[in-house]
Amino acid sequence: MSDYKELQQQYEFDTYPKRDLTIVKGKDAKVWSDTGQEYIDCVGGIAVANVGHANEDVANAIYEQAKKLVICPNIFYNDTRAKALEKIIEVSPKTLTKAFLTNSGTESMEAALKFARITTGKTDFVAAMKAFHGRSMGALSATYKQEYKEGFGPLVPGFTHVPYNKFEKLEAAVTENTAAIILEPVQGEGGINVGNPEYFKAVRKLCDERGILLILDEIQTGFCRTGKMFATEHLEIEPDMMTVAKGIAGGFPVGALLCNDKIKVPIGKHGTTFGGNPLACSAVVASINFMQKNELWEVARQKGKYFLEKISQFELSKVRAARGIGLMIGIECKEKVKPLIEQLMEEKVLTLPAGPTVIRIVPPLTISYEEIDFVIEKLIKVLN
Ligand code: PLP
Repeated sequence: MSDYKELQQQYEFDTYPKRDLTIVKGKDAKVWSDTGQEYIDCVGGIAVANVGHANEDVANAIYEQAKKLVICPNIFYNDTRAKALEKIIEVSPKTLTKAFLTNSGTESMEAALKFARITTGKTDFVAAMKAFHGRSMGALSATYKQEYKEGFGPLVPGFTHVPYNKFEKLEAAVTENTAAIILEPVQGEGGINVGNPEYFKAVRKLCDERGILLILDEIQTGFCRTGKMFATEHLEIEPDMMTVAKGIAGGFPVGALLCNDKIKVPIGKHGTTFGGNPLACSAVVASINFMQKNELWEVARQKGKYFLEKISQFELSKVRAARGIGLMIGIECKEKVKPLIEQLMEEKVLTLPAGPTVIRIVPPLTISYEEIDFVIEKLIKVLN
């Protein structure tokens, strides 16, 4: 047992199921433990480290900004914030022309819920079964999994959940009082369930006909993860609001809510102290520049295709099916995956669950083909 594990156990108010590993360093798709063990990281900070761990451009930008100005409240303008906003809007769906900056995914979702209610004057939301949208009260109410909600009630009223990718069920659930429909283009936590473009097009049409806002949660799918800058490009629709976070800033905690011109919120109605701070914004600019410079969406598309095609060549006894899009891959197993994930860790590959029976692979998009081969070799060993 390492000293740091003990130290953390002593002082942390822990709410996390932990693994017995102390990570002290990372570079691209590799991380190292305090005892010097090297791992291929298919957790990627939980789909965050898209531009690679310890990305040099991001590190330099943060360093330079930290020497200049770290905090600047949102009541003032700021040069780096202006550049970050411009960058985010440049790469976002065309109709999303304004961004509200936050510090996390759940805060972006919280803003989306408030903006939807105040814009429409309606109170209710329809979300999907197996959806995950965050842990704060509003985002948790939009989340499906009962286990995350039990004991925290009463939650925010007005949420209904319907099966994902099933249009008739969704249509039947909307009412006069539906402010917004909230969907992930690919359900991450829910098991890597890829959205059907026909379904999303029908949802967009329904929203337009019924005066309902469409909120897409791209917190996990955004910033090149699925082989496009945003997964909504696969669906060929544009939402009214889009939540982003995770991969936006090379691991620096940043989120944003992107809005089209239908969204109206009076000045003074919503805000945050740290959202849009210059340090975070410097990381956003460097990170998105890195994505553009390297066409990281295309890199993710090709590597994801390679991964999925390669793993699908093998008939693995414990595997039901492998699926995914870009480098957001799920391996559905015939048994609970927790022990399998532990075995993979012994083989020096870090992975995540997505529900009880799916292994989730969301590495930094800078992972090399050799590293992918190593991961596949270990998956074959553990899953056969
Ligand atoms: N929405 C989705 C789709 C997510 O995957 C997550 C986090 O896993 C969240 C929202 C919440 O983001 P955060 O953990 O930054 O609050």
